[in-house]
Parts: sequence; structure tokens; C-alpha cells
Amino acid sequence: MADLLLTNVLPRGFDGPVDVRVADGRIAEIGPEIVVGGDVPTIDGGRRPVLPGLVEPHLHLDKAMLLGPERSELADRGTLEGAVSATAAAKENFTHDDVVARAEDVLRRAVRHGTTLVRTPVDVDPTVGLTSIDALLEVKERWAGVVELQVVAFPQEGIAARPGTYDLLVEAMRRGADVIGGCSYAEDDVEGCREHVRTVFDLAERFDVDVDVHADFAPGPGDPRQDLAEHVAAVTAERGWGGRTTIGHVTTMAGLPDERRRRLAGTLAEAGVGLVVLPPTDLYLQGRAAPVAELLDAGVATALSSNNVRNAFTPFGTVDLLDVTMLAAHTQPFGTPEGLDRLLDLATSGAAGLLRVPGHDLAPGSRADLVVLDAPGADHHTALLDRVPRRFVISAGTLVAETVTTATLHGIRTATMMEA
Ligand SMILES: [Zn+2]
Repeated sequence: MADLLLTNVLPRGFDGPVDVRVADGRIAEIGPEIVVGGDVPTIDGGRRPVLPGLVEPHLHLDKAMLLGPERSELADRGTLEGAVSATAAAKENFTHDDVVARAEDVLRRAVRHGTTLVRTPVDVDPTVGLTSIDALLEVKERWAGVVELQVVAFPQEGIAARPGTYDLLVEAMRRGADVIGGCSYAEDDVEGCREHVRTVFDLAERFDVDVDVHADFAPGPGDPRQDLAEHVAAVTAERGWGGRTTIGHVTTMAGLPDERRRRLAGTLAEAGVGLVVLPPTDLYLQGRAAPVAELLDAGVATALSSNNVRNAFTPFGTVDLLDVTMLAAHTQPFGTPEGLDRLLDLATSGAAGLLRVPGHDLAPGSRADLVVLDAPGADHHTALLDRVPRRFVISAGTLVAETVTTATLHGIRTATMMEA
């Protein structure tokens, strides 16, 4: 693993610029003017702000980039049901090479924007079989050392509702999927949805893996299948899976009366259920998102992610987590310096904690995943608000991407992205 010296960068919480010494892919030392002997590769950070690698805890790589010219009709729905059915039809044409190509396209964009850790839910059902899972397990191997991938076996279309899915989920776990996924609203009735959640936890126990469930994806209560976060919390507590369970979306929560919403946040915190808010999809399909700041105040492990990129669920997306962060910032009170710090925490160590990847911060012993923001002399908040290019992206001590910014007439700067 790489040895490296990154000099003259500004971490949060330090008074002046520091150097970061990397050994064996981990941060060995942080401090001013570190001296190393020998031929260690050195990168001059140019007095720019630095962050730990960004983390996308919920990014559907198998279903991304489906809106090529020949598939543009897929975007023309704007509802959850429409997106599920349009994507179900698209899956009939998925091939191994097609899934790998689209996933790698998204990963290239993510890494250029500083993402070094991704959890990806991957559809498993009788239509696509194990094609996408096999593709993503191959991508995981191929990208090891650049971006760390957690692969989730995900029954988007239900388990009982799509006979044959259960056996495929078992086989996906046998082949090496890291996490078992669920989709708690995908069965025909609410009792079927409750059973779906229990089945997912049965598989989690059998394979000793974490749980990641899409849940409560409606504008508000009304459909009991879209109001099951408390049920997931109860099963989490019953099975002793606190700290190992994550739910995604939960837009229903945004439509609950104040008191019930706060009670739900307390229940999730107590059960150790984390929540990933997915603003690009949540806002596009439902015009609302779970209350991030309120969840944090209640002690819920919370993170943000892109979810979908350029498909019927979300026809947009740059795979830049800082864009997602600012999108969330428009829905909750994050305008203070403390709020901006919270957002930066969510995008880095907060999300990594939710994925149970320890030590994802700028401290000795942590994996050397470092993002240098191209804002010489500026503070992190300005760099976030400006969404500046990522000058250097370092993964496990290796430079994996850099963006060169050139000055032009009138002092306007333009960026060119490069892959290291
Ligand atoms: Zn999702």
C-alpha cells in the first residue's frame, strides 16, 4: 500500500496548514512541516482545505444512466409507481457488460468528486436474476483501492410479490453480497410488507450481515404499507440488530404531524436504526424529504446520498455528494456555520459510521482517503458553498483523481477533470 506525503493542507479544526504523512495506505501523522527521509512521493496541497473521502451510502449503480437517447421515454413519469415499472421493463435488457459499463461510468464521476466509499443496492429478481449482482461483485474487485464498495442484494419489486426472488437473494448472499436489502412497501398488503421485513432480518441473521431497507416512500401517511418505520425499529430491537440496520427515503415522515414525527425519530434513535435521506429522488418524486436536522437532533444516525442517477427515479444527477448535501440544506435549517459543519460531517465520517466503516476521519490510523478542495486559502464552508472542484482525490494513500483549474481572462477559472 502507498506511502505519500501531502503537504500544506487545511483540515477542519486546525489553526494553520499541516502536512499529512501516509504509510501503508493509512494516515501515519498529521502536523506542521513533517520531515520524511528517502524518496516518498509528495503532493503540494497549496494551502487548500482537505476533507476525509466523501461517502455515498445509497447509490444504485446497476440502474443508473438509463436515460440515453433511445430510452428517454423512461424519464417521463414522475411517480414512484411509474419509475418502478419503467425500470422493471428496462431490466429485461440488462446484460453483464451493460451493467458493468454504466456502474463504472457512475463510479468514475463519483471518484472525481471525491467519493471513496459507496454502498450500492443492486436489484435481484426473476427478471434480472443475478446478472446485476455478479456485475457489481466484479466491479467491486476491479475498483478495490480506488473506491470501497458494499454490495446490497435488493428486492426492489418485493419478495412474496415476485416468486423466485427469495431463492435468488439467498444465492446473491452466497456469492458474496455484503448486506441484505429490503423494500418494505413492495408487497400487496400491509401484512405482506411486515412479513417482508421479518424475512429480510431472517436472512440477515442467517448470513450475519447488516440490513438496508427502502421504507416509507410516500408524501404522508395514508397507505399503511408506506408507514412501517416503527415496525422496522421494533424488529431491529427484537433481533438485536441495533447499529446494523439502515432505512432509506422515509419521506412519509415528512408528512406526519409534529408530535408523531418527533416520536418516530426517538423510536429510531432508541432502536439504533440509521436513516439515509435521498434528496434528489425524494424531492423529484415527492417534493419532500425526511427532516435531516431534526433526525440528527434526536440522535438518529443520519446520512445523505444520491440514490439514483439519470433514470426514471431521478432523471438528473452529477454524482457529486456536495451537490446532494446542498440540496438537503435547502429543506432544513443548515444555514449557520454549525449547520454547514453538520453537513460536512454527514458527507464523510457520519455516513461511514452508518456503514460501520470505522476511522473515516483525518486522524492517525484512519484509512488515507483524502479530498483536497480547490479553494486555496479558503475555509471549508466557502468551498462547500462554491462546490469547488476536487483538486486531488486520494484513496488509501494513492492519488486516484485530480482536477486541474486554469485561470482565464477576467480571472474566471475553469476546471478540467483528469483521472490519475
Ligand atoms: Zn434506493
